[in-house]
Amino acid sequence: MATSNAIEQLKEALKALPGVGPKNAQRMAFHLMERNREGAQKIADALNNALERIISCQRCNTFCESEICDICASEKRDKQLLCVVETPADLQAIEQVGAYRGLYFVLMGKLSPLEGIGPEQLGFKRLNAIVAENQIREVIIATNITAEGETTADYTQQMLAPYGISITRLARGVPVGGELEYMDQRTLAAAFKDRRATS
Ligand SMILES: [Zn+2]
Repeated sequence: MATSNAIEQLKEALKALPGVGPKNAQRMAFHLMERNREGAQKIADALNNALERIISCQRCNTFCESEICDICASEKRDKQLLCVVETPADLQAIEQVGAYRGLYFVLMGKLSPLEGIGPEQLGFKRLNAIVAENQIREVIIATNITAEGETTADYTQQMLAPYGISITRLARGVPVGGELEYMDQRTLAAAFKDRRATS
């Protein structure tokens, strides 16, 4: 069967999505072209729009459409509380629980020596500067409960220890391997509420 070049390109592009292999990419491509061209146009428009408008907050790194995100700019947030998370999705998970009123810092990843991701590749320099330059009374480390998340938490804690401020971590009891993004709200709220001091 002859396949057009454009179809091959579309399949190849769809493989950029997480968890999408060649078979799924083909199914999606054929579905969109056969049965949902309108949907395909919407995806194309939304992607273009997102690429044009979405940038990173200059303070906390999360995705936003202005230099400073709504959370960082809000007068209602407690600016002495700083919660460190791995990704914008983790920030979103905590926001959905609705129990936290402080600010965030998004590392945009986790330490992973195997993948060559060290402190320089993540936002640690800026995090250090934020803690140095602001009156923060507590840093809550809310990295995922995975091996890499724990390594990242340990590094964060050691880096910030000299400041002598309160540094807490989410309570254990969160299932090991638990990623914030996929945790149910009650578990996440409890982990947050019962956060413990690091030594
Ligand atoms: Zn921000």
